[in-house]
Amino acid sequence: MRKWNLIIDIARCEDCNNCFLSCKDEFVDNDFLPYSVSQSKHGHRWMNIMRKERGQCPVIDVAYRPTPCMHCDEPSCMKEAKVGGVYKRDDGITMIDPEEAKGQQELVDACPYGAIWWNEEKNVSQKCTFCAHLLDGGWKEPRCVQACPTGALKVMRANENEIHGIIDSEGLEVLSPEFQTSPRVYYKNLYRFDRCFIAGSVAIELDGREECAEGARVALLKDSKTIDEQMTDNYGDFKFDKLEEDSGSYRLEITWAAYEKKTLELDLKRSIYAGTLLLRSSDKVPCP
Ligand code: SF4
Ligand code: SF4
Repeated sequence: MRKWNLIIDIARCEDCNNCFLSCKDEFVDNDFLPYSVSQSKHGHRWMNIMRKERGQCPVIDVAYRPTPCMHCDEPSCMKEAKVGGVYKRDDGITMIDPEEAKGQQELVDACPYGAIWWNEEKNVSQKCTFCAHLLDGGWKEPRCVQACPTGALKVMRANENEIHGIIDSEGLEVLSPEFQTSPRVYYKNLYRFDRCFIAGSVAIELDGREECAEGARVALLKDSKTIDEQMTDNYGDFKFDKLEEDSGSYRLEITWAAYEKKTLELDLKRSIYAGTLLLRSSDKVPCP
């Protein structure tokens, strides 16, 4: 059976909110029974765009993570629901039944992703339906995917072999796999959200001035082993990314031509800009 999957590329999301707004446009004031009753005008964020800022001035990046219901295959919301309140469709979509789930406010806390919202007026818990009413009507994509101008959102109807091939070839990950709910929403470039970097600049002393050290060798060591190595760019900059947050001690070793080797010990908690690392001439040999 080919099932629906959503692939979200964090590197392509520009926080324009078109996905959020198109979801509001589709569901506010519109009942689509038996799929859903109208969404609350305020408060609900069925497509919730989270923001993450990494680093310190002058090396900072900001990423946005659109976060809808993950349409899990082992949904904790379904385990918590009273009979019929939440159900899985054969095509992989997880649905809250707007009639059967009436009064089940506890579903809001049952979702570890925070994807369920309480509608006080309708007395029901609600979330993203993958626009099942549209897909069943022959549309190829949910409204959010249609509205995304950057291609950050992509749907794919695929069997298990096909989707596993895509996961491997595109390096896709699920959000918080420790929840063990088997999401059908996959992320590309998730490292922009849940990993960190060590960045810095290398300069040399030359005739009493500081100059960018293009092509300096920067090695990153952990437990005395080199785990990565880079050459600085034409501004003397380097950046090691996709490192685990709170992952302890690292050492930077910087070498360039006839200049003294420089080392720096770092304790990595969040992304770090190590500043400008100045190399001094070791034996008065002029710089090449
Ligand atoms: S993300 Fe939450 S609401 Fe959606 S299926 Fe998984 S547990 Fe249920
Ligand atoms: S519409 Fe696309 S680019 Fe805009 S916020 Fe949503 S996912 Fe990001």
